[in-house]
Order: sequence, then C-alpha cells, then structure tokens
Amino acid sequence: MQKLELFTQAVREALPEPKNIVITNHINPDGDAVGSALALAALLQSEGHQVQVIMPNDYAANLKWLEGSDQVFIFARQQAQSEQTLAMADVIFHLDYNSLKRSGPMQEALEKASATKFVIDHHQQPEDFADALYSDTTMSSTCEMIYHFTVAMGWQSKVSLAVAEAIYLGLVTDTGNFRFASTTSATHQAAAFLLEKGVNPGTLTSRIYDSNPPARLRLLSRMLNRMEVQEELSAVILSLEAKDFEELGYEKGILEGFVNYGLSLQGIEISVLAYPGAEGVKMSFRSKTTFDVNTFARTYFNGGGHTNAAGALSPYKTLEETLSHLRKHLKDHQDEIPS
Ligand code: 5GP
Ligand code: MN
Repeated sequence: MQKLELFTQAVREALPEPKNIVITNHINPDGDAVGSALALAALLQSEGHQVQVIMPNDYAANLKWLEGSDQVFIFARQQAQSEQTLAMADVIFHLDYNSLKRSGPMQEALEKASATKFVIDHHQQPEDFADALYSDTTMSSTCEMIYHFTVAMGWQSKVSLAVAEAIYLGLVTDTGNFRFASTTSATHQAAAFLLEKGVNPGTLTSRIYDSNPPARLRLLSRMLNRMEVQEELSAVILSLEAKDFEELGYEKGILEGFVNYGLSLQGIEISVLAYPGAEGVKMSFRSKTTFDVNTFARTYFNGGGHTNAAGALSPYKTLEETLSHLRKHLKDHQDEIPS
C-alpha cells in the first residue's frame, strides 16, 4: 500500500466519531504552515470534529486574511490555555514540521500530550515521534500534501473557497510562485482544482505581496547595498544588522523572500541571509541546483529544511561570528558547489 493510503487509513481509524483535535505547526509559521493548518482545521470541522489550531508564535500580518485566523491560539501568548487544550486532545496533527524541536516553546507540552499524533510534512529526515507519518520530500509544500490527503479522504466536495485559498497560499509561497524545482505537474493539478473552487490567483497573491510597509523596501535596499558576492564560491552572502531594524523598522515576516534575491544573479548557486532576531542570529539558505543546503545548515548551524531551501538559528552569538564561520565552511565545500 502507498504511504498516503496507510496514513489515511490510520486517520480514519482514529476518527470514527467526533473528537477533540489540535493542529500545530512550526515556530515562525510561514504561508505553507498557516495555510495547511487552517485548511485542515476547516475540513475536520466540516466532519463534525472540535478543532483548535495552536501555533508556537505569531505569524505575519499579510497572512491574517485567512478564514479562521482569528480563532488560532498563539502558544507564546496563550500558554495556559494552549497547554490545557493540548493535554485534552484526542488527536494532534503536526503540519509542515517533522521534529518536535521545531515547535519551539510548545515542545514540552507536545511531548507530554497523550493524544494520537499524525505528521504531514515535506521536510527531510523526519523524526520518529508520530503514530502515523505522511512524509514526502518530493512535495512542493505541505499544502500540496493536504490536497492529496483531501482527495484520498474523498473530501473534494468539502473544499470551500476559504479552504481552497488556504491551500493555494501554501502552494504559492513554498514554490516561490511556482518557480522552484519542487514545482511539478501534480502541483499545477492541485492549483487547477483550487482555481475550479473559485480561487482568484491575482487577488490572492496581491493580498500576500502587495501589503508591505515601507520599511520592507528600505531594509531590502540596505541589504542589497551591503551584499557580498563571492564569485569563486558562486555564493552571495546577505546580512542585516540590529541597527538597521532600529533605524528602518521591523515586523514579523518583513524579510520574507529576501534571501532569494541572491539567486537572481547570473552564475550564483548559493544565497545566504543572516540577521539578528529575538532568539539569536537567524539564517536562511537557498541553492539553485545541486548544492544541498539542508545538510550544510544541519552540519554547521544546527538547522535543516530541504535540499534547496533551509534555515537555522545560528549556534554563534553574534552576526560577525556567524558570517565568518559561514565563509569558512562555504570555502571548505568549494568542490561541491557547481559553478
Ligand atoms: P526559511 O529560510 O524560509 O526560514 O526556511 C527555509 C526552510 O527551512 C523551511 O522549510 C523551514 O521550515 C526550514 N527551517 C527554517 N529554519 C529552520 C531551523 O532552524 N531548523 C530546521 N530544521 N529547519 C528550518
Ligand atoms: Mn513548507
């Protein structure tokens, strides 16, 4: 049997009657995490279940138009309520992450929960904590997997416009607008289904991309001015400093997509962005073709993700230290970088 079929069977067995379900996703939830959580929540609610979405921390303002956004618990802000809901849950879904460490402040509460645990995720190297796992690293997004899961459950007729928009959000954002190598014919078939449900691509993408504060462009300008091009490594190193945010402004999600600008240069394979955040120095890694940034981020910076897109919270205290380790490790791997 296919792994989706096995997973679907396990979900059916766990949900023979209305249950208390919690849906969770990773720290700093992105479009794919938020979209998949709210889509699955609405689908399960339409099946008669009691569903609560709990996210580790808050997400970007340009994603708050999603239906159900106002019902989400933010663990970092509503800890007692979230802990109680997790403890009472019959079933917990973990979407867009595959290691409890990625749930940040929620990790302990998730470890303690006695619920049946289901994972739907497209990142590499899944950890073994769930009762059933639908993991597929060839998928463009967790939202694409939610679409396949919806079809496998026979729920196509339950996909409302709001659910279709939530799934489409993850497709668009995780594929860089249907550009990245992870975009397949199946991704486009999922998109076609969602358009048939009424999604308007122009309106939806405008909600995501045309609602920026001026600070975003000012920070972008600062970052591009400071860009470090390492031609012999086919790499671009991008950075922003604490004083840039003090001077120009900062809000959650304001740097979304910045790291991709490095890849737009001819002959560049790798782009890395580093900047100091509330939890330490945050890093984003992207590659165009064969350089495996998941392994690189995992090996040197305690991070992870996918072959062409990974992230990390730097183990080094300062931006300067982080950047000097980055330069050194890239140089060590020069042989593997296609030029
Ligand atoms: P981003 O650079 O957009 O934050 O993340 C790129 C990809 O790497 C996403 O799929 C994200 O889930 C993953 N990622 C980001 N930060 C971390 C991290 O600290 N650890 C791990 N394992 N994955 C991360
Ligand atoms: Mn994702």
